[in-house]
Amino acid sequence: MAIDEVVILENSSVLQDEMIAHRLGLVPLKTDLDSYNLPEECSCKSEFGCNLCRVTLAVDVEAKDGPRTVYSGDLTSENPAVKPVSDRVPILKLAKGQRIKLEAYARLGRGRSHAKWQPVSMCTYKYYPKIRISKTCDGCGECVDMCPRRVLVKKGSKVEVQNLVSCTLCQDCTEACPKEPPAIEVTPEENKFIFNVESTEALPPQRIVEESLKILDTQLKELEAEIKVKKSEKT
Ligand code: SF4
Ligand code: SF4
Ligand SMILES: [Zn+2]
Repeated sequence: MAIDEVVILENSSVLQDEMIAHRLGLVPLKTDLDSYNLPEECSCKSEFGCNLCRVTLAVDVEAKDGPRTVYSGDLTSENPAVKPVSDRVPILKLAKGQRIKLEAYARLGRGRSHAKWQPVSMCTYKYYPKIRISKTCDGCGECVDMCPRRVLVKKGSKVEVQNLVSCTLCQDCTEACPKEPPAIEVTPEENKFIFNVESTEALPPQRIVEESLKILDTQLKELEAEIKVKKSEKT
C-alpha cells in the first residue's frame, strides 16, 4: 500500500505541493493485504475509491513556536493497521508560522506500476556452496588464512567448515592450497540457492515471497491456457 493521491488544503511552506506529494508516496506503509482490494478489482468501481480500497491519512501541522520538521509520524491514519513503518521519515521543514494541512489516500498497487508499491528494498540470490575437504589435507591452514569470509577454521591437524552460507565461491581457498590437486573443493549445489529478501516492512518477508509465488502461479496458468488456445486454433 502506498499514498497515491494527495489533496493539499494548506501549504505555506517553501516546498511545492508536488514535491510533498511525491515524498509522501515514497513513505513505506504497513500494509493490511487481507482487508483491502486493488482499486481496479474493487466492487465500488469508483475512481475515488471506498473503504475497501482506500485508506485516508491526514497531516495538520503548524510551526507555532519555531522551525519544525514534519515527519511521517505526523500522518494520522483512519486505520491504525495502515500507517508509516517508521515515524522518523522527514517530509518537509516548516519555518515559524508556516502550516501544512493535507489529506492523503493510500491504495494497494503493484511494483511494476511504481516503485513505491514495491514491498522489497533489496532482493538477491546466490548459489548454495558445497565444500569438500579430501583426505590429502594436512591441516596447513593456508586456506583458512586466505578465506575472506572466515568460512573455514583450523581444528588440530584438520580444517572444518564453520560458516558455510557466508561462502561466496570465490575459490581463493582452492588456489591457496599447496596440494596438487587441491585438497579443498568448492562447488555450487545444484538446484539450491540462498535467496535474500529485505522488506521495507510494508509486509513480512515470508508473506512477500508467498504472495509473489501466488502471482507467478496465476501467470503460469494464464500462459498454459494461452498455449492450449493456440494449439486448438491450429487443429
Ligand atoms: S570459496 Fe572463497 S569464500 Fe568460500 S571458503 Fe573458499 S575462500 Fe572462503
Ligand atoms: S590449504 Fe589445503 S592442505 Fe592446507 S589446510 Fe587447506 S585444504 Fe588442507
Ligand atoms: Zn472500492
